[in-house]
Amino acid sequence: MQLTRRGFFKATALAFAGSMAFELSTQSEALAAPVDANWKLVNTEEYTNICCYCSGGCGSIVSVRDGEVINVEGDPDHPINEGCLCPKGAAMFQLRNVVDDETGEIIHNPERKTTPMVRRPGASDWEEISWEEAIEGIARRVKDTRDETFVETENGITVNYTPAIGSLGGSQQNSEEEYLILKMMRSLGVVAIDNQARV
Ligand code: SF4
Repeated sequence: MQLTRRGFFKATALAFAGSMAFELSTQSEALAAPVDANWKLVNTEEYTNICCYCSGGCGSIVSVRDGEVINVEGDPDHPINEGCLCPKGAAMFQLRNVVDDETGEIIHNPERKTTPMVRRPGASDWEEISWEEAIEGIARRVKDTRDETFVETENGITVNYTPAIGSLGGSQQNSEEEYLILKMMRSLGVVAIDNQARV
């Protein structure tokens, strides 16, 4: 078929108009379509959270349906990771849920620890303890270590410090939390104080 230059432009314009009309009708159908009950986000709630693994403090979005976690992904609005998660953070979902080897179903992770655990001196096994016991045990050890190593004077000068305890803050702590940690450490006589953010 021979097309004049004018005929070519006319044919092109008609084809373009036809495709636009099809596109618009498809879009209006999509807008008018009822919500698909099987749509993967139906009946889900989203909660923002922080990755629990390293001190990077990446933000995540946890999707929940009927009280159960169904997805964890990076939070694109979080200033630290802007939606990314490293492989460790991306595997956070498996802290709570795993795929059952036999049935292929998603089940609660039977290995998940929900209480503090301790391996006492000389023991080969871990045992579960209460939060109260864990906190009291840590406080007792910090106080005992500080008291046993406290130096009041050196060369006749008052120094009041312990060389036996150090404090390394994490990047997940904000300025106010770091301020409180600093105050607490100084009150114990700790001088080896640093933060991951500085490093
Ligand atoms: S996602 Fe990775 S880098 Fe980010 S906080 Fe978690 S472990 Fe750290």
